[in-house]
Amino acid sequence: MTSLITSRARHVAVIGLGAAGLVAVRELRREGHTVIGFEREKHVGGLWVYTDRVELDSLSLDPDRTIVHSSIYQSLRTNLPRESMGYSDFPFVTRSGEGDPRRYPDHREVLMYLQDFAKEFKIEEMIRFDTEVLCVESTPENNRKWRVQFKSLNGVSGEEIFDAVVVCNGHFTEPRLAHIPGIDSWPGKQIHSHNYRIPDLFKDQVVIVIGSQASGNDISKDIATIAKEVHISSKAVASDSYGGYDNLRIHPTIYRAREDGSVVFRNGKVVFADAIVHCSGYKYHFPFLKTNGYVTVEDNRVGPLYKHVFPPALAPGISFIGLPFMGLQFFMFEIQSKWVASVLSGRVKLPTEDKMMEEAIAFYTKLEDLGIPKRYTHFLTDPRGNPMLGTFEPEDAVVISQSDYFNWIAKQCGCTSIERWRERLYNVAIKKIFFSGDSYRDQWDDDQLIEEVYGEFAKLKSNQDCSS
Ligand code: FAD
Repeated sequence: MTSLITSRARHVAVIGLGAAGLVAVRELRREGHTVIGFEREKHVGGLWVYTDRVELDSLSLDPDRTIVHSSIYQSLRTNLPRESMGYSDFPFVTRSGEGDPRRYPDHREVLMYLQDFAKEFKIEEMIRFDTEVLCVESTPENNRKWRVQFKSLNGVSGEEIFDAVVVCNGHFTEPRLAHIPGIDSWPGKQIHSHNYRIPDLFKDQVVIVIGSQASGNDISKDIATIAKEVHISSKAVASDSYGGYDNLRIHPTIYRAREDGSVVFRNGKVVFADAIVHCSGYKYHFPFLKTNGYVTVEDNRVGPLYKHVFPPALAPGISFIGLPFMGLQFFMFEIQSKWVASVLSGRVKLPTEDKMMEEAIAFYTKLEDLGIPKRYTHFLTDPRGNPMLGTFEPEDAVVISQSDYFNWIAKQCGCTSIERWRERLYNVAIKKIFFSGDSYRDQWDDDQLIEEVYGEFAKLKSNQDCSS
């Protein structure tokens, strides 16, 4: 592996070593920076490190609770084909003779892929495990430097000064709850999907699952294998329908919950339920970041940010990798990381603070003009028919498609943008979610496309062999 020696090598902290932090560390080092990664857990992988543990507070409302990072459930399989998910030069292919060979593998397989990546690029040597970052703030004596305060699991605290901090702490740990009138006196059990692992708790019960996006969809089917009835509350439907299982129905959103244990849906249907599972998403949360108000989170908009990455007033010292949701996440982490690394070395220039601010404000104004709530600011996916989008027509909800976004960044930092095959694979996969129902993970018809993809992987391998 070659490192680019630049005239402006920076000392950079990366917070969090999930899929975003891992590739950020690699790209920063490739650009010649010195990097230290801080990881609260014992392992790399972030969200993909499955644990049976859940938080004691099943709705995760207590700000002082002990946090369990991962939100994945035992039965989770990827919602995209593995070949589309990998980083550009490290394909996510089947491991010979071990693991889960399926095109949509289980969560263990994704973790193994990330561990392999960390090993291949010797990333662990730059990580401080069991070390939580408690505070990031600019140093009083020099507001272009950043003080990172941390505490390790064995109680040792410390601080260190960095030229830049790259925030990769993930955004699927802090639950977001739907507002339900009357819920405080509703007597049933409530949990957020962050604390859902297995369906056993719901045996023979009547369960309401709020939300019909990826997790709501999976979890309701998981619970339906054991529960008496499952009722999904979805923004995407106006009246009741069946959900492909005898004991599963889909309803519109909830109108109110009542003291007698009943829940009234917006179309007047009433269900007496034992439990509610909130699959209503997550909040961006940066408890360690002290920016004097230069970065705020308002209705799940992290802002103001230039292209979802740089806060104009603090750039390039502070940057965020991985805020946009939906779409090709690992690829996005990689391309955003390349951009951050090249800006920090001075190889690529950012516009002035004023220009970045103007751009951010113009973007927010455009969203507002389209009637798109702030919480969709970081929604980034292909506009053509994303079935996971509930409340808006897809054309209205997306101001820029993910490929436009990737192409724009690639142009800034002179790197290769999204491969044509990856775009096509993603588009096929999204259509399958829409049209193939529950079997979308297990029926793959487009063998020719897969053949092409493996042809591209073979070319990549032979180029890598030649240059090593
Ligand atoms: P994370 O993986 O959450 O990593 C963040 C890391 O930061 C963690 O290791 C955490 O311990 C650490 N950290 C946090 N705070 C601190 C601190 N203060 N100090 C030190 N360390 C800290 N994407 C796909 O591409 N395909 C899928 O099939 C898919 N399925 C998903 C299913 C679910 C249920 C969810 C919630 C998401 C799914 N995603 C999927 C999206 C997923 O977010 C990304 O794939 C990706 O793994 C997120 O990586 P990340 O690095 O941004 O965050």
